[in-house]
Amino acid sequence: MRSSQSLSSRNGAGSFRRARVSAACALTGSKSWGTSSAMRTEPETEAREKGLSALGGWRAGLSRAPFGRLLPALVRRGLDLVYPPQCASCEAATASAHSLCVACWNRLPLIARPCCERLGTPFAADFGAGMLSPAAIADPPRFDRARAAALHEGAAKELVARLKYGERLDLARLMGRLMAQAGRDLLADADLLVPVPMHPRRLWQRRYNQAALLANAVAKETTAPVLLDLLLRQRHTPPQVGLTREQRRGNLAGAFAIAPENRALVAGRRVVVIDDVRTTGSTLNACAHILRKAGASRIDVLTFTLVADGEARMDME
Ligand SMILES: [Zn+2]
Repeated sequence: MRSSQSLSSRNGAGSFRRARVSAACALTGSKSWGTSSAMRTEPETEAREKGLSALGGWRAGLSRAPFGRLLPALVRRGLDLVYPPQCASCEAATASAHSLCVACWNRLPLIARPCCERLGTPFAADFGAGMLSPAAIADPPRFDRARAAALHEGAAKELVARLKYGERLDLARLMGRLMAQAGRDLLADADLLVPVPMHPRRLWQRRYNQAALLANAVAKETTAPVLLDLLLRQRHTPPQVGLTREQRRGNLAGAFAIAPENRALVAGRRVVVIDDVRTTGSTLNACAHILRKAGASRIDVLTFTLVADGEARMDME
């Protein structure tokens, strides 16, 4: 992904953009790149790679020394004694941090193949590669493919609630790791990760966007960069509860946008949109519509959970 032309044309706005992204990162608690820093120029990339290789050499030298191997292990052991690792869901004692206890793993309804190639909904039986569910045929989504790590039930539902409403920002690491595994086909050649944005008023109230936290966590497992502020939520939308399909579409019309100066970053790119829950897909369809209009070549969707009967349970979005 090289975008030196678009970068050079936006140099004047660079400092402003960096400041805005820093503010967004402070709100989300993330270390993610903003748009300007995500699109690195060739010299920057080379310098970074040289720096990393030098760091790698230093690390390799350190790891050869017995002290270099022992020190991190001793620090980790000491921290484990002071703060014993706990299950991310029920807080029972576990062997390692950012994991689940055996009981919670058993209550985590992970989605595995076979599943609908388009919507990622699990099939009860294997109908062969490339099979589509009736829902995907009857009402094709605006995105190309969707995947979710788990059904919105049991421990998965609890993790979403704790991340979203319980201020357990640390859960994003485990959830992102599971999402990266579920979406490895989508992420293999993705160019950009984009979280579903939150309206500034809602962001001010909650202080963080859980979709941005998850996008950062997924990005740690891949090579694709995150663009936190690519999609903008320019209109606060009322809850979708009780609305028909057409009303939901109207409710979200014009809710999302891409700043004109960022449209060139999307053209021809393979984008993965990240969110915590997919219910009816209305929100993700609206995001996909905007990205398609900006020229994205492929739009996939990756969420932590999928509400199995989303039409009947619209209260999640
Ligand atoms: Zn547990």
